[in-house]
Amino acid sequence: MARNVVPAGDCRHCSEPTLACSHNHFQADDLIIDTWEHKCANCGFRETVAFRSDDESWDPDTVTRETCPYCRRTVHS
Ligand SMILES: [Zn+2]
Ligand SMILES: [Zn+2]
Repeated sequence: MARNVVPAGDCRHCSEPTLACSHNHFQADDLIIDTWEHKCANCGFRETVAFRSDDESWDPDTVTRETCPYCRRTVHS
């Protein structure tokens, strides 16, 4: 499991610069899951999204598992 966390700027709920963006990557045989989480250390605000390789409900042309849907950073940045 790979996990990386970077500062994600100001929380839109409490306006403190305590938001963190974390990415997790899971792989088990053919299943790949990438999750993104934004969490505020100050007020506890949290939002997450998970992209599963077996889930067709998201459009791979407009959404990529390797880009955070909240702050648009990529896994490699
Ligand atoms: Zn906050
Ligand atoms: Zn992010």
